[in-house]
Amino acid sequence: MTWHILGAGSLGGLWAARLARAGVPVRLVLRDPAALARYRALGGLTLVEEGDSHLYPIPAETHATDTPIQRLLLACKAYDAEAAAAALAPRLAPGAEIVLLQNGLGSQDAVAARLPRAHCIFASSTEGAFREADFRVVYAGRGHTWLGIQGEEQAPAWLDDLRAAGIPHQWTADILAKLWRKLALNCAINPLTVLHDCRNGGLRAWPGEVAELCAELAALLEHAGQAEAAEDLHGEVLRVIDGTAANYSSMHQDVARGRRTEIAYLLGHACTQAERLGLTLPGLDDLLQRLREHLAARGLPVT
Ligand code: NAP
Repeated sequence: MTWHILGAGSLGGLWAARLARAGVPVRLVLRDPAALARYRALGGLTLVEEGDSHLYPIPAETHATDTPIQRLLLACKAYDAEAAAAALAPRLAPGAEIVLLQNGLGSQDAVAARLPRAHCIFASSTEGAFREADFRVVYAGRGHTWLGIQGEEQAPAWLDDLRAAGIPHQWTADILAKLWRKLALNCAINPLTVLHDCRNGGLRAWPGEVAELCAELAALLEHAGQAEAAEDLHGEVLRVIDGTAANYSSMHQDVARGRRTEIAYLLGHACTQAERLGLTLPGLDDLLQRLREHLAARGLPVT
């Protein structure tokens, strides 16, 4: 069974290279003929691991190819996911499986609504990768990927492909808890690192602000039916701040490089859900307002 991978960026490239070298058939789906031409000129995708780089001549195509897709890894940013899914909808075979790698929440439901006949598998990953150049990906941090369909205990047999490829992963019937917990950790740390222009460790100077956000986020998780994901949230946030003290958060890096953030699927989603649940969370609302002003002042999208 061929894995089609849409988005030959950081995570998409990391998955594609590992699947391909394990002998799993992979095809990259690129944005347009210009991207395909650039890719072909390079002769493939390069993965850099612990300083060693290796070129993988993985076959690639554009959306316009008309062969059917049975298994798709959607590896674009959350704000591109719905449009990408809609573009590939005519090519999806009935019952196709789609793994959604997007961070945050909101984009998965939008994709699932576009593709009602597909099986959408949500994923939450702590792996780290970045694009050093076009079609050149650096594997920056070992991590783990949780995959699941909410309430579905039985892992699909094709997870064997991930095992063969050495992609650390686990199936869970409660993928929403994983996604909510990661969203809450993100909301407590990333926006503040942008507003205070600091590394994660710099947030030790703002203990009150962090504590207030954690209390509001825990209340949101509980009201959203995610009480387990709320447990010891503040403690874990403090551990992440200490454990990654020297790092710049992904949102800080995006803003510093003038790149669009996934704000709508992280802090924006948290505030929208709080409103929907009738919760007043002034700290989170104020944070969203300040972050939007900060992004707007730099000419970046605020949604
Ligand atoms: P990325 O490096 O920006 O890669 C996304 C890729 O998707 C880009 O190559 C982009 O092409 C492509 N793309 C977007 N729309 C497309 C379309 N319609 N057709 C074809 N290609 C399309 O992003 P990423 O860092 O891999 O992140 C992907 C998701 O994983 C995000 O939600 C992110 O938060 C999450 N995540 C990332 C990491 C990490 O370490 N990178 C870790 C955990 C979670 P263009 O360059 O042409 O736009």
